[in-house]
Amino acid sequence: MKHTYDAIVVGAGPAGSAAALTMARDGLKVALLERGNFPGEKNMFGGVLHRLTALEDVFPDFWDQAPWERHIVQKNLSFLTEGATFNVSYDSEEANTPPYNGYTIFRPKFDRWLASEAVKAGATLLTCSTVDDVIRENGKIVGVTLLRDNAELRAPVIIAADGVLSFVAKKAGLRRAKFKTSNQGVCIKALIDMPKEVIDDRFGLVREQGASREIVGCTAGVRGGTFLYTNYDSLSLGMVLELESLNEHGKTPYDLLNALMQQPQMAKLLKGGRLLEYSAHLVPKGGYEMMPELVGDGIMVAGDAAAFCIITGLNLEGINLAAQSGVLAGKTAIEAHQQNDFSKSSLSGYRKKLEDSFVLQDLKLYRRTPHMLHNNRIYSQYPELVCNVMDEIYRIDGKPKETMTKMLLSKVKETVGLKNMLSDVYSGWRAL
Ligand SMILES: Cc1cc2nc3c(=O)[nH]c(=O)nc-3n(C[C@H](O)[C@H](O)[C@H](O)COP(=O)(O)OP(=O)(O)OC[C@H]3O[C@@H](n4cnc5c(N)ncnc54)[C@H](O)[C@@H]3O)c2cc1C
Repeated sequence: MKHTYDAIVVGAGPAGSAAALTMARDGLKVALLERGNFPGEKNMFGGVLHRLTALEDVFPDFWDQAPWERHIVQKNLSFLTEGATFNVSYDSEEANTPPYNGYTIFRPKFDRWLASEAVKAGATLLTCSTVDDVIRENGKIVGVTLLRDNAELRAPVIIAADGVLSFVAKKAGLRRAKFKTSNQGVCIKALIDMPKEVIDDRFGLVREQGASREIVGCTAGVRGGTFLYTNYDSLSLGMVLELESLNEHGKTPYDLLNALMQQPQMAKLLKGGRLLEYSAHLVPKGGYEMMPELVGDGIMVAGDAAAFCIITGLNLEGINLAAQSGVLAGKTAIEAHQQNDFSKSSLSGYRKKLEDSFVLQDLKLYRRTPHMLHNNRIYSQYPELVCNVMDEIYRIDGKPKETMTKMLLSKVKETVGLKNMLSDVYSGWRAL
């Protein structure tokens, strides 16, 4: 079976559907290939969806239509030890007017909806269609083969939007055959059912307001972090853990997540909730240094497949970068059709567009962050330091007090060490 299109997009995640939508709206004949039974079936994330300006430009009523759960008005950063929590909270009325700055969503709903918008624009969505390989002729990529029915699909331009492991980019020779385990995070998430009113009371929310919490600590020393997000009537609690560090510590993600759920302050937030499901996924955490080649003859790489993900510990951004890169790849494919030139040099306009956008500018800005987050002290000593200091500040027990400076210095010496702290502040300052 052979079919011919103007463009083939592999993967109906946010990057792929955004690319397909852009090209279909311009009249190109587009095939959007998805291995799942429906877009989103194979996908999970935290998750907070940040503003998708590229898609807001494509259809202005984007946020009226997109299926979201709650909009985030309250952002928290917590340091956790086995028995204590220190929480910094930011709550803003300004975040209470649409379009909001962040929305919790479920991927099976969101991805399905976004792909259906691409279909409405004219793209052909083929589900249960796993791409097995690329077709090469005279050194150029001219199509893909599917696992199903030995099918061959041909197009002068392919967009690899097949996620973090991107076999398409690998088969096209655009990324290294093996990943460094320090560049990959495994994420495990528990979805916890909880009545809306309980969530509202517990987190101090009204109407469709939501809260997000990024958490440092309680990972048994494994490099990684935790998130807790409010959905309409459920909570998403998850951990993003570096594969190399998990291996070094001989820990499993589910043991760490189960232990976290027992931590006293966490247990209070989860009390009465009912575990609905566990899910897991990889996340590219190597940032700019992990990026593959973005363009080849007849092919471009977008979204997680291109490692477009930013993890700072305060935010996790991926979908916004994926959608933006998908739109830019789609626009480049449209230009390539106008010029009837699908060579690497013609498609290199894609890289230029990414460089002019927040995608590559932000990835470059945060290129030192993965290295900074490789520091083991962040995951055990700093949460301990913060909670010990707060304990000392709030302890009034009839004993004479020290000056704040003296107390802080002695706690720093006890836990992290002064020299280490100065060096960590310096690398944090350079990385963020
Ligand atoms: C636990 C976790 C929490 C996260 N939290 C956030 C967050 O809060 N905010 C945020 O913005 N980002 C977050 N991210 C990152 C975000 O999920 C990704 O950056 C984003 O999904 C990338 O989109 P994509 O379209 O590039 O890839 P994906 O969403 O991975 O989509 C790829 C698609 O390709 C399909 N596919 C794969 N291989 C093939 C094949 N061979 N043939 C056909 N189809 C194929 C897959 O089934 C999938 O539908 C998180 C990620 C994880 C894992």
